Amino acid sequence: MISIEQALDLISSAVSELPTEGVSLANSVGRVLAETITADVDSPPHDKSVMDGFAVRAADITPGCQLRIVETITAGDLPQQTIYPGTAARIMTGAPLPTGADTVVMVEKTRVEHSDGSEHVTFEIDQIAAGQHTMQVGASFAKGTTIFEPPRLIGPLDIGLLAEVGKTWIEVRRRPTCGILPTGNELVEPHRVPAAGQIRNSNGPMLVALLQAAGAKTDYLGIGLDEPKRLSELIETGLSNDLLLLSGGVSEGLLDLAPKLLTQSGVRNVFHGVAIKPGKPIWFGVYEERDKKTYVFALPGNPVSSLVAVRLFVNAALRKMHGFALEESAMLPARLAGDHQSRGGRTTYWPGEWVSTPSCERVVQPLAWLGSSDLRTLASAKVLIIFPSEKSRYSNSDVVQVLPLD
Ligand code: AMP
Ligand code: MG
Repeated sequence: MISIEQALDLISSAVSELPTEGVSLANSVGRVLAETITADVDSPPHDKSVMDGFAVRAADITPGCQLRIVETITAGDLPQQTIYPGTAARIMTGAPLPTGADTVVMVEKTRVEHSDGSEHVTFEIDQIAAGQHTMQVGASFAKGTTIFEPPRLIGPLDIGLLAEVGKTWIEVRRRPTCGILPTGNELVEPHRVPAAGQIRNSNGPMLVALLQAAGAKTDYLGIGLDEPKRLSELIETGLSNDLLLLSGGVSEGLLDLAPKLLTQSGVRNVFHGVAIKPGKPIWFGVYEERDKKTYVFALPGNPVSSLVAVRLFVNAALRKMHGFALEESAMLPARLAGDHQSRGGRTTYWPGEWVSTPSCERVVQPLAWLGSSDLRTLASAKVLIIFPSEKSRYSNSDVVQVLPLD
């Protein structure tokens, strides 16, 4: 049996990047950027005021001074006058600073008086630091600056910046498609009441949701009974996707048909079995037809085993498909609240929750978990606590690594 690290290395070498496609700015949230984004303008495009007030020469502001207002500049205007000693311009937020002015005094600190057919401004301050309430051309970024490098998951906050640099059409990775095939004679779909001996297919819908949340388009194939001919047909249909996830039928049981049928369908096995708990029987393979590859994971049928396998291995494949390096530092160190006895032998992922402490330290509490079919406990977990295989007895305040679940 191989280690988690060996499994991740094998996934990394087997998986290639997806092709790219163009999408509109409005459709780019949640997609993975596949091109370098460069600024086509300076930001701001001119020296500007960041307050409503008066553009002045800082050196002119002396106790009791009075400056003549030569014009009013609103955002979108171009200044017509130069600010010479003794003059000021009324200026609004975002408007270009006129030549000669270096500073803005906010309107709240000023008083305007009319005399001899002209307007004058006086100040409720005696001096001001040069440059105050202004922003220089290109202060945020200059034309030609690299704004984003691929790969990058485009989030809502990125959209404003992409809009500012005029990127209305963006090259992103194509969304992967993923076939989902839960298997097992005991399964019925969730809308049915299970008869004696049956259980509801909880894993299928959870896998669909997990893969959709990870940005894939899912193709739900329905429940596959443990019957070779029909299951092979479903596998063949599923192989038209970029990814195919089977659940169930992957260990040593009498009706555990997945490994054999996948191999018969032409899927090349890369590994079967990883030293991990839960999730040990996981099977991974690659199907190649002409220049198209399908990555196939057969996951243990218990929902919690499947979740751990998705979080660790399927997500790693998806990251590689999107051009990311393999996830290395998703884990966080935390202190354990209470003692914990682990069986050892295999690295164990155990559901846990955060505990708040007065010192704001990161502390996790292992939950009273009944094992890999216990979805109820899992639903209240915020993390998986990792108990390495070398050690079995853990004490209160030991440092452990945790994998956040959201
Ligand atoms: P298997 O991997 O097929 O040996 O299944 C392991 C355990 O998970 C058995 O108790 C199954 O009944 C259960 N199981 C398999 N598939 C599912 C599923 N889709 N939803 C919920 N439980 C499942
Ligand atoms: Mg089964």
